[in-house]
Amino acid sequence: STSARKSLTVGLIPADGIGREVIPAARDAILAVQTELPPVSFVDLLAGWDTFTRTGTALPAETVKTLKEECDCALFGSVSSPSRKVAGYSSPIVALRKELDLYANIRPVRSVSADPSKPPTTDLIVVRENTECLYVKDEKLTTGEHGKEARAIRLITERASTRIGRIAFELAKARPRKLLTIIHKSNVLSVTDGLFRESVRAVPPASNGAFDDVTIEEQLVDSAVYRLFREPQIYDVMVAPNLYGDIISDAAAALVGSLGVIPSINAGDNFVMGEPVHGSAPDIAGKGIANPIASIRSAALMLRHLGYASPADKIDKAVNDTLAPGKVLTADLGGSSSTQEVTGHVMKLIQAQY
Ligand code: ATP
Ligand code: MG
Repeated sequence: STSARKSLTVGLIPADGIGREVIPAARDAILAVQTELPPVSFVDLLAGWDTFTRTGTALPAETVKTLKEECDCALFGSVSSPSRKVAGYSSPIVALRKELDLYANIRPVRSVSADPSKPPTTDLIVVRENTECLYVKDEKLTTGEHGKEARAIRLITERASTRIGRIAFELAKARPRKLLTIIHKSNVLSVTDGLFRESVRAVPPASNGAFDDVTIEEQLVDSAVYRLFREPQIYDVMVAPNLYGDIISDAAAALVGSLGVIPSINAGDNFVMGEPVHGSAPDIAGKGIANPIASIRSAALMLRHLGYASPADKIDKAVNDTLAPGKVLTADLGGSSSTQEVTGHVMKLIQAQY
């Protein structure tokens, strides 16, 4: 619990490309609200393609050890991945999710209306199971009577579905609308998606009435994508197995303009890692023009997950009050401000709330 925490140690893993330009903004946001947090410290950690080219590993053992032994949470920037397969290289973010058992990928997507008295048309959270489904990558190529045959195993377990379901119910319960939509395709995949759906549905009965106020809906994944584009306002919290969650969260991101504003966290029972949804953006890296908002929001989301709602609210408000008037924006949002100018503006609006 938050009250038990005597200090807050944050691992910083900027990794590659614009990660190095935007993670400092997330760090500044945490520093700007530190009076509401236990004493904060940061540890700089290495990972990524650049680290691989210099040391031969994309995720040094030292980084994992420090995260496990010293850190309460972390902020991850972005990795450049080579366009061809390189011997010995594998994605550090995938490895980190495994090492730290970060089984939930949580991605809020929210539009900003120019008129702050109007509610945003899109204000939803995609909760994606992060460890199984087709991503167990158990594929096989064989030769059959009619030529090549490829198969992939899709693993769905009751344990993983239940724990992602619990996270989704908790998030839904904390929001005004308290609506959870379970995404599946159990009309076709009745065994695997059937288990996912049943396991999520079994969470409230096993929770002593804790989720009685949450409304549960279900939607087949294809119609969910269709409705997401036509009437995004119908959604509040969506929970999905890994592959559908991957597709839906990118689709939802397309509704709000720029990758540069969408945050995420990777969460487990003992650790949480904030991560902007965008990649390393090699086309703009090093120019000082990357949008820092996704990273700043990731810091807020991470703090909220750790139980620090009030400082998270202040960061989110400062971000919304930056985006809504649309005066201090980076180029991806049609403005001409630099990463530092946007960061500075958000920090000023955070400080104004104290
Ligand atoms: P990667 O392989 O690391 O994912 P990518 O080439 O796919 O790199 P992304 O980072 O996914 O690039 O970005 C896709 C596009 O969105 C790029 O044109 C990039 O410049 C833009 N973009 C992404 N993030 C931001 C940001 N924070 N600010 C401004 N533009 C961004
Ligand atoms: Mg990309």
